[in-house]
Amino acid sequence: MVSVAEASAIILTHPFIPGIEKVAIINAIGRILAEPIKADRDFPPFHRVSMDGIAIRFEAYAEGKRTFTIEAVQAAGQPKLKLKNPSGCIEVMTGAMLPEDTDTVVRYEDIEIKERQAIVRDNEIIKGQNIHYQGMDAKKDELLISQGMRISSSEVPLLASVGKSDVAVYSGPRIAIISTGDELVAISEQPLPHQIRKSNGYALQSALLELGLASTQFHIIDQKEILKTQLKEILSAHELIILSGGISKGKFDFIPEVLESLGIKKLIHQVSQKPGKPFWFGAADTKTVFALPGNPVSTYMCFYRYIKPWLMKSWGNDSPISTASLANGFSFKPPLTYFLQVQIKNESGKLVAYPLPGGGSGDFANLKEVDGFLELPADKEYFNAQEVFPFIPFRNLF
Ligand code: AMP
Ligand code: MG
Repeated sequence: MVSVAEASAIILTHPFIPGIEKVAIINAIGRILAEPIKADRDFPPFHRVSMDGIAIRFEAYAEGKRTFTIEAVQAAGQPKLKLKNPSGCIEVMTGAMLPEDTDTVVRYEDIEIKERQAIVRDNEIIKGQNIHYQGMDAKKDELLISQGMRISSSEVPLLASVGKSDVAVYSGPRIAIISTGDELVAISEQPLPHQIRKSNGYALQSALLELGLASTQFHIIDQKEILKTQLKEILSAHELIILSGGISKGKFDFIPEVLESLGIKKLIHQVSQKPGKPFWFGAADTKTVFALPGNPVSTYMCFYRYIKPWLMKSWGNDSPISTASLANGFSFKPPLTYFLQVQIKNESGKLVAYPLPGGGSGDFANLKEVDGFLELPADKEYFNAQEVFPFIPFRNLF
């Protein structure tokens, strides 16, 4: 049995080698950028007027001039105009190029217009005001987004403005999710009294989808020979295999033995944690296998604590560790890392974790109230209110 930290270290030193694929930028949300994005031109690309009003030469204003004859209108999307009379002005619209020979923009709110004359009312005009200067935000060829960054809706407009309709992102492995157990039936079926609908496969599939990864679900019954034949076939067509169930001490828990017989080297079996103690991890060449305990909360926790960071690390993205402070004292005696289910509240800018332990690792109905897991270390029995611990979120908070 290894500790959570040891398990995590072993897993992270066995990353997969990601491929690269091109996707339309609108489908790139949640994916990891596989190319650096540079500015194809200055940002902004010209001195951009940032307020509707008039453009003047500041010198004229400084010399005491307050009434400016309007020469023309410079709209956004028009080539640059030129001020003819140094003491005239040009009406300018937000997003327009700053007319040549002007250097200051006065807002409509600060002027009065009468018969093509603009009278400046504001006595605190500053030279260069209301202009967003060329290259101020980024120079041509400057790095805008680093490779390895997770793409969100705030990167998409940057990609669009440098002319990328497709972007290179890391691709995931081909993923198989395998539910095991004779008690499981398809969700479309009416379970008999001794059966349950399988739900773990959907938990894993949807959690992967949030990372932009597609996967295929399988179900295998608890019979050694059938497990062996079907697992062999699935292993040949996938690089990442996530199993749920069949790894504990039960009479029909054949998964570890079958995986090893198929040449998958066991790297971890059992982690000193609750839930999820039976956790199994192994690898062979290009194959990685996570065999998770079947209890739904264990499956779910293990995905977010081990598989998601493993995917992120393989893509070169070291996801930051979040923390939250415990709202009230909590005790857990066994010498195991306890992943406490918590609800998070933002209290004066601090993430505060309210324990909602639920009814154990089978009680996945409890998760609907929960935002994530607080990782309470194995070497303590009592955890004080306001103590800060690593927090593993599975929801977008706030
Ligand atoms: P196991 O790890 O196979 O001993 O399963 C532990 C518990 O998790 C049992 O109560 C199983 O019925 C349940 N379980 C296993 N796989 C699934 C699944 N795919 N969906 C829902 N519950 C499951
Ligand atoms: Mg089982």
